[in-house]
Amino acid sequence: MSTSSTARSIIATVLGLAVAASASCAPPAPRTARGDPIERSDLVLGTVCTLRLLDGGSEAALDAAFARLREIEDRMSANKAGTTVAAVNAAAGSGPVKVPADVLFVLGKALYYWTLSGGAFDPTIGPVVKLWNIGMDGERIPSVSELQAALPLVGAGSVRIDGAASTVYLPRAGMLLDLGAIAKGYAADEVGRILLERGVKAAVIDLGGNIMVLGKKADGTPWRVGVQDPSDDRGSYIGIAELPGGTTVVTSGIYERYFVGEDGVHYHHILDPATGYPVRNGLVSVTVIAESSIDADGLSTTLFALGLERGMALAESLPGVEAIFIDAENRVYASEGAGSIFRLSDGAYTMATLP
Ligand code: ADP
Ligand code: MG
Repeated sequence: MSTSSTARSIIATVLGLAVAASASCAPPAPRTARGDPIERSDLVLGTVCTLRLLDGGSEAALDAAFARLREIEDRMSANKAGTTVAAVNAAAGSGPVKVPADVLFVLGKALYYWTLSGGAFDPTIGPVVKLWNIGMDGERIPSVSELQAALPLVGAGSVRIDGAASTVYLPRAGMLLDLGAIAKGYAADEVGRILLERGVKAAVIDLGGNIMVLGKKADGTPWRVGVQDPSDDRGSYIGIAELPGGTTVVTSGIYERYFVGEDGVHYHHILDPATGYPVRNGLVSVTVIAESSIDADGLSTTLFALGLERGMALAESLPGVEAIFIDAENRVYASEGAGSIFRLSDGAYTMATLP
């Protein structure tokens, strides 16, 4: 009944990496003084993760970074058996579960974005995510009665956290935590921290299109990171952002995970906690540029869910955060600060301003 986008997403991610990496690192600098770049890719956190060390570091640094990525997956994935999040979910309605400090930290951030968004971002969206299964086996359009049964289980306001005991409790049976909108950003921050601790002086971290650039390029010029073209699965970009090291670029879009139903409608994976249906507000993607990837990831989903006007107002109110919104009419809206670091290069798109 549906066309799966999973295979397509993975291909897009790999090619997207080629674009991002070449955009970030071109032209290749002479590597004699700094040694050859070391690169490794692996499937973690449900996506292709690629780390490219351009100055300093070693295979051991890559080992440590990938080990941490797998640890984060083993704690925070909602789609995998045996994770900490799965244990919290299994104990919904029966009792609190002790969790590691990092899970508490990521959940705390997710609850912050829930508050900031007035509930448009909600890490307890799990029961609705599970009904749709978008991007996974068994994706389908849930019935109205299924959605009506799931929606009362959504509501981050009821999550109980005991910081001293380091426990999380979902008070109603059937509640499900889903940190999928924010865990990859946290993972990028953690990889950045580990690489810097291990002496890496320049690197590109790409967790399925969630990009972070670290340190300085050999020629001293800014990093150049492509902003994904939302209409193109093949990983091309609509323009380039020029950025200093220690910056992350995260996009949430409707082209990443979706399926086309028998009704011809495009159903994507950012869901409205109020209705249970994919958010439909005329946007096709939101890219956030910031220093912290957990914030950029939480915000890209948040701003998408809020829509252009409210999302842009929120982005402009946050120091150190820039955002680029793309709508279905190929209009590109940049926050004030993004206007000076981002340059549109694809003639199919036009820069626009809010009235
Ligand atoms: P991606 O993970 O593809 O980079 P996002 O960061 O935007 O994209 O996260 C989307 C994921 O977040 C969904 O697959 C789902 O697990 C979860 N999610 C969907 N809708 C919401 C929402 N309104 N609030 C919080 N999380 C959501
Ligand atoms: Mg996100």
